[in-house]
Amino acid sequence: MLARLRFPVERSRGRRYPEPEHPYRNAFQRDRDRIVHSRAFRRLEAKTQVFTPGLSDHFRNRLTHTIEVAQIARTLASVLQLDEDLTEALALGHDIGHPPFAHAGEEALNAEMQRFGDHFDHNLHALRIIESFEQRYARFPGLNLSFEVREGMVKHSHDFGPGEQPQLDAFLPGLRPVLEGQLIDLADEIAYNTADLDDAWSAGLITAQDIAGAVPQYAEIHEAVETQFPGASDREQFYEGLRQLIDALVSGLIEGTVRAAEASGAANFEDVRACPRRLVAFTPEAAATSMVLKRFLYTRVYASPALGADRRQAMTRISELFRFFVKSPDRLPAGYAQQAAAEPAHRVVCDYLAGMTDAFFRRTYEAMLGPAAMPPTAAPAVATPPTS
Ligand code: MG
Repeated sequence: MLARLRFPVERSRGRRYPEPEHPYRNAFQRDRDRIVHSRAFRRLEAKTQVFTPGLSDHFRNRLTHTIEVAQIARTLASVLQLDEDLTEALALGHDIGHPPFAHAGEEALNAEMQRFGDHFDHNLHALRIIESFEQRYARFPGLNLSFEVREGMVKHSHDFGPGEQPQLDAFLPGLRPVLEGQLIDLADEIAYNTADLDDAWSAGLITAQDIAGAVPQYAEIHEAVETQFPGASDREQFYEGLRQLIDALVSGLIEGTVRAAEASGAANFEDVRACPRRLVAFTPEAAATSMVLKRFLYTRVYASPALGADRRQAMTRISELFRFFVKSPDRLPAGYAQQAAAEPAHRVVCDYLAGMTDAFFRRTYEAMLGPAAMPPTAAPAVATPPTS
């Protein structure tokens, strides 16, 4: 397949702080393990993916979503003969920069930061977590991950040119990430599109017929399932169809990537980096399905009144707590309060809020500002404040 384009672990640009080799785990295997053992990774369990808990025990949270992305990405890497360890490390780390309350949290933090001429971006926040906030090693700050893992995280969803993001100049602006890094964005897209269909179906927001009406490829799949299993329940038919949809998207991504790689003439990972465009791509049919799925989910789920109330509430509460701490930085935990005296307070407050789980946000809000209506939160997974 694409073994010629695999990134060879021995060619890694290495870690910021040099470390001795491990006797039986290579650099990317160690990176994967470091991410799994980080506090930021464990906090994903108590962060909303799309649906806040309460209505069902079966909705994805950011941790189970991450596991689904890793599973799809590993399959892709294995079939394409790319480096599975690098792919897995990137998939497991791809969402650790997400704030509480999903996109509502990100939007609210970004809006607050813009009042100070700054902004919030979850990929940059992930970089700050792995480079400085995690405190696990006596010899260096952060997790000291390999260059390719850090690069993959900052280029997870978009590439950037020289000078576009000066704080990222060390991460090869103008060059594509290696194929293992390119896989994550579309593995993520397959995972969240199909998982959100599942969760929205479980929440009673949509039916299989609704999806079939909007997504031609799903309509074909659903019709075949109905013919093949006429006696199956709605639930069984829905899951049969959903599974086949994931398969079709993953197969479309494998085929599209092999075609794009062949057409590019790339012979090794350096050629992949120099290509003007990313080579990981859907076939036109899978790309069309993914696009209409996104559109369907946006109108029927993300922008639905059912999710809108939680979203508005979460954004309001985040803005309120953000403004409270900017005004009263002395109410921050000691370490952050000290930092806020030396650096712009809005940046420190943003880092503090972005690291919170939904449940820790709720407890902090109530301790500072009193009880208030808020979207339901999962049981706290970690009882101590998210200081790292
Ligand atoms: Mg994701």
